[in-house]
Amino acid sequence: MKALCEFDMSELTELVKSLGQPPYRAKQLMKHIVAYDSYDEYTDIPKAFISRLKEEFYDRPLVEKTRVVASDGAVRYLFQAADGDLLESVFLPHSYGNSVCVSCQVGCAMGCVFCASGHYGLKRDLSAGEILAQVLYIARDTRTAGGVNKIVMMGSGSPLANYDNTIKFVRLVNSSDGINIGMRSISISTCGIPKRMEDLAEDGFTGTLSLSLHAATDEKRKQIMKIASHHSVQSLVQALRKFFDATGRRVVIEYILIGGFNDTAADVEELKKLLKGLCCHVNLIPLNPTENCDLKPPTKKQAYSFCDKLNAAGVSATVRRSMGSDAAGACGQLKNRTVEAKRRG
Ligand code: SAH
Repeated sequence: MKALCEFDMSELTELVKSLGQPPYRAKQLMKHIVAYDSYDEYTDIPKAFISRLKEEFYDRPLVEKTRVVASDGAVRYLFQAADGDLLESVFLPHSYGNSVCVSCQVGCAMGCVFCASGHYGLKRDLSAGEILAQVLYIARDTRTAGGVNKIVMMGSGSPLANYDNTIKFVRLVNSSDGINIGMRSISISTCGIPKRMEDLAEDGFTGTLSLSLHAATDEKRKQIMKIASHHSVQSLVQALRKFFDATGRRVVIEYILIGGFNDTAADVEELKKLLKGLCCHVNLIPLNPTENCDLKPPTKKQAYSFCDKLNAAGVSATVRRSMGSDAAGACGQLKNRTVEAKRRG
């Protein structure tokens, strides 16, 4: 069974027509899909039509199971999908506007050694509606705190490995008929699939494209990311260049700092060489601890010194402020809770 939030305006128009309703119902429904979590709140729609919709469509495809609030105000939500699968999203309040970090898959196939999301592999893709439902639910829940202004596709899963649903989600969340989040306020983070990175611009994505680079040479990258055996760092930078040429949007390089592994002066030089002439900003993320990973973060001093060296070398860089870590909601800490729950019985 599908959820109503899977539909865009033209699909909703078709749907209401096929169910013998007047065309204005589509607009009414779209407004309610954005504003409400339950059919019970659709009070200006005839009861008989609601009953008909209930037979075929969920009002929301996810329900909240629990939430954990971190000391910095970040909130990690655990949702359950209609098939019982569990997924997580994180609300990140900022003085300049609030972000939501959404998941796009249950688990992840990429198996990066530093990230908890891929530890049990991939369970399944989320549909566009299941990704959107995370935003709609959290936007409503946080209305009094200003709601949601920005989306980062940085939760569990690899957006470009679930490409069609990612693009559909971006269109739905950006639509002026729907919740209308500006394209410039949407970020997609990828471990690097060059062909798909290029497709994004062609398919109308002009938000921020972030690449999880984490090492400037193939040799080093292969030690921590499985995907590095398939795509070279050169091919990734080439894809970023094409994205920039097509969209004019500065790209982001995400670079986890792992103490003693990728934070030396030689790494600064390699990064400088690799990123030469690319319009980018480097986000340095000191490694967050996860289970089953014995890599260490650098000290704060080392992280800032690496950042200073990059800037001195002409590479724009900042150290990302980590949020939500005491709620296990920081970068790399979201897990495949479905598999975890089964293992624990
Ligand atoms: N699946 C997406 C988003 C991942 S989360 C991707 O692959 O890009 C957002 C960022 O946090 C990514 O750059 C990711 O590599 C990074 N990250 C993953 N695990 C981390 C950890 N333990 N500490 C710090 N950053 C981490």
